[in-house]
Amino acid sequence: MGSAFIEGWNFVEVLGEGAYGEVKLAVNDVTNTAVAVKIIRWNGDKQRSADIRKEVCIQKICNHDNIIRMYGTREDATSVYMLLEYASGGELFDRIEPDVGMDPFNAQRLFRQLMDAVSYLFDRGIAHRDLKPENLLFDDYDNLKVADFGLATIFRRQGVERDLDKCCGTYPYVAPEVLAKRPHKAQPADIWSCGVILVAMLAGELPWDQPSVDLVEYKSWTERKSTKPPFNKLDILSLSLLKHILDPNASTRFGIAEIKEHRWYKQRLTKALIRGKSQNNQSSPDPKRFRTLPESGESVISYSQPDMTSRSDSREEMNHNISSDHLASFSQPIDIDNMLLSQIPCTQGSSSQLSQTKMQRLVKRMTRFYVTADRDQAVDDLIRACIQLGYNQKKINAYTFSITTTDRRNSYLAFRVSLLDIDGLLLDFRLSKGDGIEFKRCFTKLKLHLDCLVNDDREPPMLSQC
Ligand code: AMP
Repeated sequence: MGSAFIEGWNFVEVLGEGAYGEVKLAVNDVTNTAVAVKIIRWNGDKQRSADIRKEVCIQKICNHDNIIRMYGTREDATSVYMLLEYASGGELFDRIEPDVGMDPFNAQRLFRQLMDAVSYLFDRGIAHRDLKPENLLFDDYDNLKVADFGLATIFRRQGVERDLDKCCGTYPYVAPEVLAKRPHKAQPADIWSCGVILVAMLAGELPWDQPSVDLVEYKSWTERKSTKPPFNKLDILSLSLLKHILDPNASTRFGIAEIKEHRWYKQRLTKALIRGKSQNNQSSPDPKRFRTLPESGESVISYSQPDMTSRSDSREEMNHNISSDHLASFSQPIDIDNMLLSQIPCTQGSSSQLSQTKMQRLVKRMTRFYVTADRDQAVDDLIRACIQLGYNQKKINAYTFSITTTDRRNSYLAFRVSLLDIDGLLLDFRLSKGDGIEFKRCFTKLKLHLDCLVNDDREPPMLSQC
């Protein structure tokens, strides 16, 4: 079992990491309830503290089925702990097959859920500002959940809307007016990112590194040419919608109401026949799984993950923008009362020891497979495959390797491989930093290089057997 976080709760797995700190999975000993704890370190910088408080306040406002809920927060001298709804189904990029995409039925279903979440945010005057597949998670029931409000801001209060002027987000998903560092409307910029996400879902690749006319891919799109990948992979209807969403002119770009009226959005698609294993990693929830909590109520732009150290919206702005009735709407489930009230111990054990536990089975991921070899041989072959592919690898401990490389776009990519003994040897890959689709591409290449080790007879565990 993992290290005690607060009495009765244990950290059992690192779910994700970033410049700010980590997201860990905490499970209650008795009730088996699971909570994601986002741990953001204070660094003494006033601006950073204000940014953290702003993220917390915005998360508190949100109470929607397609947005990760926050149950409460804790603070100590080192960090703030955001107790979040646990999304056990992994991230959107995990369901996108590089260069292929996903079943259009599923893409439409998920895009509709994304529109519902974004519409909810807009109604409350919130702009997310970093929508991308890495920030779109799934629950047990394959519902999409918007996560990570680290760059979000309030653009409307009491009916008065303000333009945004900060250049923030992640390059391939950012709108041209944001990249141009011009004052811009908040809503069209988020809508643009949703359009890029839709291209990724339907075609399995991103249309450009950034929306700059210096890039031939983007320039040809502005000239309304769609004869090259990824656009030539799309059908006429989805292309027609995307022409309105990825409209370089923010003032004529489709809004949510227009998107919802478009024929592609409204058409009734049928689910593709699934060949062999589940195509998009969909499965029905296992009642034996851990319980998630009941529902309750200057340039900050990067190629993969935004730089959290350079956010600069002021605390005054936050206080000014968030009204007390928003805060009052926040409620918390009983299960985590002790988590919110009891002392946080000063020492928290390292999570490396936890990765060997059965808890690892919790996160639904496609980026893992069983091997037939023993651990020594698997390690040797993994290192050899990395060398052949030109990836750098570093041993973190006996069970974990960190792998780094540059992706097709020359952007930094880092991921971890854990060798887990769960009724056999399982190789589990998790993105640490970089673009999710590029990570999937590297995973696929590594898996091919390890082909003779892969145990195809065994389906990797998607669900807990605890
Ligand atoms: P963030 O910095 O908030 O985007 O979180 C980094 C990564 O941690 C995400 O990409 C997810 O893989 C994971 N993560 C964050 N929040 C959750 C959550 N509520 N449930 C499960 N995994 C999460």
